[in-house]
Formats: sequence, C-alpha cells, structure tokens
Amino acid sequence: MSSFIAAPQAIAGMSSGSHISSNECISEHDMTKLVCLSCGQTNRFPETRSGAAAKCGVCGDALIDGRPHDVDLATLRKAIRNDGLPLLADFWAPWCGPCRMMAPAFSKAAEALRGQARLVKLDTQAQLDAAAAFGIRGIPTLIGFVGGKEALRQSGALPAAQIAELAGRLRQTA
Ligand SMILES: [Zn+2]
Repeated sequence: MSSFIAAPQAIAGMSSGSHISSNECISEHDMTKLVCLSCGQTNRFPETRSGAAAKCGVCGDALIDGRPHDVDLATLRKAIRNDGLPLLADFWAPWCGPCRMMAPAFSKAAEALRGQARLVKLDTQAQLDAAAAFGIRGIPTLIGFVGGKEALRQSGALPAAQIAELAGRLRQTA
C-alpha cells in the first residue's frame, strides 16, 4: 500500500475518464479497496489509478470527493477494515459547541487531503453506540485509522492545518 500513498503525482495526473494505458499490467495484487461512504459498498479498483475518479459500482457516488461524509457506525467499521487509504474520523455531536466550531476546518482539511486520506464524521448523538465502541471520553475526538487499526487519537477542536498535519502522520504510518 505504501507505493499508493507515496505517489501523489499519480493522483494529480488523473483525468476523468482516463483509461489504463497499454503499458500497465494490473494484477490482482495491485488492486486497492475503498468503502463507499454513501451506501457502504466495498469497491475495488487498480491501485495505479488512485481512485481519484472512481465511482461506487452500486450508487454511483464518487469514492474520493474531498468532502467529509457523515457515516454510521457500521459503515465506519467497514471502512476501517477495508480502506486502502488512511481514514480520519471526527466523533462529534450537534450539541457540542467546539465540535460545530471545528466543522469548517474539518471540511477544509478534507478538501486539502483529497486523494491522500478520507475524512468522515460520526454523530455520537445519532449513533449512541459509537462513543462506547471507540472509548470516546470527550468530543470532538479525531481518530485516525490505517490498515484496519487505530493509528492516532486527538481530542479537542483543531484548526484545519493541524487536522491536515494529523492526517500527514497517518500517511507516514501507512
Ligand atoms: Zn455507493
């Protein structure tokens, strides 16, 4: 997976509708996976194409769109298990002032990190099991996941630059 993460130029060079060029040989080994954050479907595609233009085979939504998606606990768990990209989850709630304050920064970071990490939001008020499942003691809490495991955790509202910096550490872990 490290070659995927270390090749941002492949992402920048993507154009929509581009085809796999004839001098590439895609083996099963070079496939990567991303869970659709809209419908929960696990999608597979060639690693070299980076997924920047990949769409979900079931619902048609973009798999990488640079926005934080609201997910439920089941989708989050599935993405943690399957995703070929680092995942940064914001555990928040609508009643939490600092959480709401951080929301624009989180969106900005999601756009800046497009293609490098996916950012998701989990509403702990709507998903009552989520805080207990991840041992959340205060919100907002950001948890980074790489390769199916928790790689870092940070509580308290952060500006966009620090959120991006956290995700950068995730990429080094990957
Ligand atoms: Zn989908």
